[in-house]
This record gives sequence, structure tokens and C-alpha cells, in this order.
Amino acid sequence: MSHQSRYWNPLLETLNREAIKELQLKKFKRIFRWAYDHSRFHRALYKKAGITPDDIRSLDDISRVPTVEKDMMRDIQRKDPFPYGDALCVPIEEVTEFRQTSGTTGQPVYQPDTWADWEWWSESWAFILWAQGYRPKDRVFIPFGYNIFVAFWAGHYAAEKIGCEVVPGGVLDTKARILKIQELKATAMMATPTYVLGMADTAKNSMGLEPAEMSINKITCAGEPGASISSTKKRMEEAWGAKVYDHAGATEIGAWSYECEYQPKGMHVNEAFFLVEIEDRETGEIIKGPGKKGKMIITALDRHAQPCIRFDSKDIIEWAEDPCPCGRTFGLIKGGVIGRADDITKVKGVLLAPTAIEEVVRGIDGLAHEYEVIVDKVGDVDRISLKVELLTGAQEQKDTIEARLRDQLRLKTNLGYKIEFHKHGTLPRYDVKARRFRDLRKIH
Ligand SMILES: [Zn+2]
Repeated sequence: MSHQSRYWNPLLETLNREAIKELQLKKFKRIFRWAYDHSRFHRALYKKAGITPDDIRSLDDISRVPTVEKDMMRDIQRKDPFPYGDALCVPIEEVTEFRQTSGTTGQPVYQPDTWADWEWWSESWAFILWAQGYRPKDRVFIPFGYNIFVAFWAGHYAAEKIGCEVVPGGVLDTKARILKIQELKATAMMATPTYVLGMADTAKNSMGLEPAEMSINKITCAGEPGASISSTKKRMEEAWGAKVYDHAGATEIGAWSYECEYQPKGMHVNEAFFLVEIEDRETGEIIKGPGKKGKMIITALDRHAQPCIRFDSKDIIEWAEDPCPCGRTFGLIKGGVIGRADDITKVKGVLLAPTAIEEVVRGIDGLAHEYEVIVDKVGDVDRISLKVELLTGAQEQKDTIEARLRDQLRLKTNLGYKIEFHKHGTLPRYDVKARRFRDLRKIH
């Protein structure tokens, strides 16, 4: 591999569209047959739908294959073979990796991988990191808890595979991590947007350090949509004086998408490793091109222990219009993952994606990063409240800030809000993944 090459895998990343589709069909047939032959769970699902591997002759036939919901995976857990259940396609002794979903929306799902699956995980991360400019000369600091969540584990191995020097920032606290970055002159790091901003605040406010003057020149984000929200991205880039890149992945799926060095306001789908279909939420039809948002149905084409075949991810995405200037032929999704089907809710009859509120709040000078949104009902009427923090020193501009906030919210979300200003530092802080949106209507 030449270090000058723009692509990690020049062959796969520049295949013509016909060849990509051919490869996806070939791989889909293979993984579908594998699951049909080795997993009782999958075979029962497909038999019920009356479909067999021989029925898949074109990409269009794939939409007949039933989707798998997260709840179905929850139901089989802890059954035989313990603890994964009967979607397991390999003898249990071939499993080398245990991870579980973070369970923010219910009981966690266990995810087994074989060593070959794990190699595949790090290979898919190598596409991501190479596209974001990671090279052997980089010293990569990973401020992550190295635990049962997959998070940056595969990013760690991929950085090593590329030839970078990797510093695991495991159990250190935030201050110790910042000092380590300073001491070792680390050039890159991986973290959630919430933590990237939190670290910068700690460095500035509690340690008197200026992160923008440190050596970090690129940051890879995961776990939250922030790096695809332009105002949040800008705050992170300014705070660290670094390029901030998004990537999307999930425990049950793999690392399926990445932003390249051109930051094209969207992410490439690794179409050599994944088949992404976008389903119209009203008609159930597959959306083939740009112009319409839908729900992602995804297949990991090479993952074998517990396959991910037409998994209903609940992510809302949309194909982008233009090819990317980087020359990759992998499809682009516009603006990254726009939201989750579970999060997009109707307030006063208007569809609202919480990411739109973040975009507005983080785009206004004088407001801190933190905010909180609460939707509830007063009588029969929906009410949406937004709590923001005014930066110390911005008190005199409060009226102007509030007017701007109201205008932008109305423009971007078509809703009027009850706005509360709080003192900087008083709203809840989150270490890794934030829960800033609460819909109290759903509780009753
Ligand atoms: Zn690109």
C-alpha cells in the first residue's frame, strides 16, 4: 500500500456502479444462503415468508426478503446456544468477540463475532480512517472506555493495521487524557461529539489549556449525529483546530459509512461490504435515488457469526445527488444519518427531527453547547420547551440571542418554543452519549 494513495482499497473504492451492483448481488446471495443453511432463526423467518436462496436472481428480488427488527434479536437472546440464541451460525467455540448494544432503548442485544468477523470489522474501519487522512506517521489517541460496547475498538485495530501508532486512553479521566495528548503530541483522536466538546471545555475552563493549539489535526466521531450537523462540527473544529469527520456504525451492523477528506456534507456507504436500501416509510417501496428520505434497511455482506441481513436500522437517510470529488464511486448519503425513526416525532402535527434543534442552538454565538428539549402536553395541546445556557459575558446580548433563536427555530423546524435561559454550566452534562431530547407524551 502506497502511503500516497488516496484510497485504502483503490480497486473497491473506484469500481464502476455496474460492478458494485454485481458484487453486492453476488455477496448477498452468499450471505443469504449461509444464514438459511446455518441459522434456525433465519431459516424459520424465510420459510414463513416463502422465500429461499434460489429465489434471489436480481437486486430487485432482495426486497422480498423479510426484514429483521431489533426486537426479534432481543427475543432469541439467552436461549440456546447460550447466550446468543439460534441466529448463531457458527459453533460457539468459534466465537472470539462479545459485544452488546448500549440498550438506550430497551434490553441490550448481544453480538458475537468470529476472528474472521473481527478482521472484517477492522478492515471496514481502515476504509474510514484512510479516507479521513490517517497515515502511518499519525499518533492516534483513543479516549474511550474499552468495554463491552464496540464503539472505537475496531477503530483501534484499524489504526494499527494502517500503521499508525495507537495510544489507548482507557481508564484515564478527562484531565489525564488531555495531558497525555499534550505530552505525546498526538495527531488524531476518536470520540463522540459530546465528549469532543466536553474535553475542549475541560481543557479551557479547568486546566487553562487551549486545545486548538495542541497537536490534534483530525478527529473521527461516532455514536451521535453531531459530526454531520454543520454547527456542531464547526464548534468541534474550532475548539480543537482540527478537521472533524463523521462515521456511522452499529453493533449489530458494522462500520458501514464514512465521511471522506472532502467533507462533502454527506457520508459514503461502503458498498463493497454493505448493501444499503432506503425504504419509503409510507409505501414500503425502495427509494432508488436522491430526493426522498426513508428508513435504512441494511445488510452486512460479509459478517458470519450472527448475520445482519435486511436489518431494520430505524436510521433515516437520503441518497445524495452528486458524485464526490474524491473519486470514490460508493454512494453518498446526504447530511449523514438525519435521525432515527424512533426520534422523529410529530409535535403540533409537524414532523420534528431533534437534530434540527441542535443545528440551530449550536449555530448561535453566545449559547453554550448544552441544551435540553422537552415535549409534553398542556391539556390537549403539545408544548415544546427548549432550555439553553447563556455563556458568561453574553448577558447583554440576551434579547438579540433570543430573537435569533426564535427566528431560526421557526425557520428550521416550523415550530414555536417555550424558551428558558439557564446559567452556563447548570444543565445536565453527559460524558459519552447525550440524551437531550425527552418526549414526556410517550411515558403515559
Ligand atoms: Zn468522497
